[in-house]
This record gives sequence, C-alpha cells and structure tokens, in this order.
Amino acid sequence: MSNRIPVGILGATGAVGQNYIYLLQNHPWFEVTYVAASPRSAGKLYHECVDSKWLHGANIPEGVKNLIVQDANDPSKAIGKCRFVFSALELDSKDEIKALENAYAGLGFPVISNASAHRWTDNVPMMIPEINPDHADVIRAQQKANGWDKGFIAVKPNCSIQSYMIPVFALIKAGYEVKRMIVSTMQAVSGAGYPGVPSLDMIDNVVPFIGGEEEKTEKEPLKIFGKIVDGKIVNASGLKISAHCNRVPVIHGHTACVSLEFGDKKPTLAEIEKIWTEFRGVPQEMDLPFAPAKAIVVRHEPNRPQPRRDRDEDKGMTVSVGRLRECPVFDVRFVGLSHNTVRGAAGGGILNAELLKAKGFIV
Ligand code: NAP
Repeated sequence: MSNRIPVGILGATGAVGQNYIYLLQNHPWFEVTYVAASPRSAGKLYHECVDSKWLHGANIPEGVKNLIVQDANDPSKAIGKCRFVFSALELDSKDEIKALENAYAGLGFPVISNASAHRWTDNVPMMIPEINPDHADVIRAQQKANGWDKGFIAVKPNCSIQSYMIPVFALIKAGYEVKRMIVSTMQAVSGAGYPGVPSLDMIDNVVPFIGGEEEKTEKEPLKIFGKIVDGKIVNASGLKISAHCNRVPVIHGHTACVSLEFGDKKPTLAEIEKIWTEFRGVPQEMDLPFAPAKAIVVRHEPNRPQPRRDRDEDKGMTVSVGRLRECPVFDVRFVGLSHNTVRGAAGGGILNAELLKAKGFIV
C-alpha cells in the first residue's frame, strides 16, 4: 500500500486540474485519490470526461483515469478519500469559490488554490515559495479566526507575474530597492483555460486585453512582498507597477518585457547577472521534490528566452531571463519567461503544498 498522502483535485477536468493529475503521477509525497468537477461531470469516470480534451501527454495516468468524478460542490464527499485538496475551480463568481473553499477548510482540508477568490483575504498567504515562504505562518491566525482545526486556505498568485517576480525579488533581497517597474506581458492561450480564446480571435492576431489581468499584475506583487502584522499580511509600499497584458498565439509560456527603476543604490548589469545566477530560495535549500535546481536561468543568446525553447526548463519550474541591458528611461530592462500552467499554475501549487508539508501544515 502506498504511504503517499492522498490528495483531491477540485476542478480536475479543467486545464489546470488536468495538469495537476499529469504532474503528480509519480510524485514521491502525494497521490491523487479523489477528483471532483461540476455536476455535468459528476458520476462519470474521469477519462469519460476528459478523453476528448486531454491536454498533457498521450495518456491519462492509469491511477486516475477510472476514478469516479464527484460533484465539487459537495465537500462532504471528499471525507475519508483525501487529506488535502488542490482547488482549480472556475465557478460563476469569486464569492461562490470563496464559500466552497471555506467549506472544504471547515471540514478539515488544507486547500491549495489556483483561483483568485481568496488572494485578497488578508490572513490567506499568497505564496511563491522562493519569495515569501514565511507567509505560511499567517495560517495559524487564519485557523484561529475561522475556528478551523486542521483546514486552511493558501493560494498562489496569477500566472503572468511568475515570469519576473523571482528575478525582481532576488535583486531586492540583495539590497537593491525597486521603485518603479513597467511590465508588458505576452501571455499564452492556455492561461485562459479550456477551450479558451476562440481560434478565430487568436490565429494571426494579438489581443491587447485580458480582463482583470493588469489590475492583478499591479497589485499582487505588493502582497507577496508584504509582511505579517498581527495575524494579517500588510502590503509592501514604495513599489509602483504599470502593466500591459496581451494575449498572443502561443500555447504555453508567458513572456514579460520588464523595465526597472532602482532606488539610490543601483546594481551594474554584471552584479544583476551574478545575483540571478547565484540565487537560491527556500525550496532549493530544502530540496523539495518539485523545486527546480535553479529558480532562475540566465540566457545569453540575443534572441532568448522564447516560449517554445525555454518554457520546459527544469520541468517547467525555472524562470528564464535574458536580454538584460540598460534602459534609457528607467535603469535596466530584461525579458522573463515561465511556463504558465506549470510554474504559473499546477507546478506552483505543488511546490506550495510541498513547502506546507515540510513546514508541518499538511500532515
Ligand atoms: P477550466 O479549464 O475552465 O476548468 C474549470 C474547472 O472547474 C473544470 O473542472 C470544471 O468542471 C469546473 N467547474 C466549472 N463549473 C463548475 C461548477 N458549477 N461546480 C463545480 N465545478 C465547476 O479553468 P482552468 O484554466 O483550469 O482554471 C482553473 C482555475 O485556475 C481558475 O480559477 C483560474 O483562474 C485559475 N488559474 C488558471 C491558470 C491557467 O494557466 N489556466 C493559471 C493560474 C490560475 P467541468 O469540466 O465539469 O465543467
């Protein structure tokens, strides 16, 4: 019998849910034992729901394909089937997602969520494990405030910011305050879920609008760089961000062109490259199973990083940076790239869960 921790996937039939199932198939700590989705899918075998829209590799993992899909709206069905859940739900409103995730936490399930519903709940950590692993500590205050015993909610941020947040954090950690940042993203279609943006809108085209994305890009980094005060996360101040978010005809991989203005202390290009090359976060120090050996890889080719060539770097968990150069308006500029459905979604969620297990929050 397996001694891995049994885990459930809410929204298991969607783009992100499928990727959890694909990425967890040989995980050393976690085993998918429970899958749930909408009432449309409930009662069917998992493969019957996704055969026609399976996105990851040739075959659905054996251990999951014959699981019966449950209705995610009934958390009691998960009792005794799994010890924590990944939430990859897309419901009609954020309030519905919040209420449902709270219900799972209230029943004793840790919930690691990809949804944006709880990102602004001040006692819910929004984590990129290389940047703010200490925000996990707010979970005890969250459990106390809600009267929850073992359950809690932790979320991961929006996929688009993952292409540059670790490189920017590495510079801040090295003592270089960042005052202003302008970021223009080129985001893959898989970020819109399945079936996503209609092909007639996307082929031979760029769409210069992704609903809500620029607001998230400008606000979420402030919570991630924030501090815990009296059981709540207080946002960082002093960093201003301006974002342009575009949808481009790429399947996977979000690219971002970033310009940074530093405070009084400004690093040279050589110092920046050294900081990025030597950067190690807590997941690397703890040698977590899903942590890439290097969180940041610096490319020197004049035309890299590119989604097709660089998104799969170290199982899709490494952020690739390149085109580091001076900026005639701000101080420096570079291009960052990450895999949006791996580092930006399911892989990032798995790394969060590993961190929370290693810190004793998931048992
Ligand atoms: P998706 O492909 O549209 O999948 C949505 C999932 O939610 C499906 O399993 C669907 O089940 C289920 N669902 C829909 N209506 C439901 C209902 N009324 N009750 C219960 N379950 C219901 O979406 P996605 O792209 O995987 O995104 C999932 C979540 O992750 C979203 O909150 C999204 O914002 C977030 N996210 C996505 C990405 C990305 O790269 N795609 C990145 C970061 C975060 P059925 O198949 O039965 O309809």
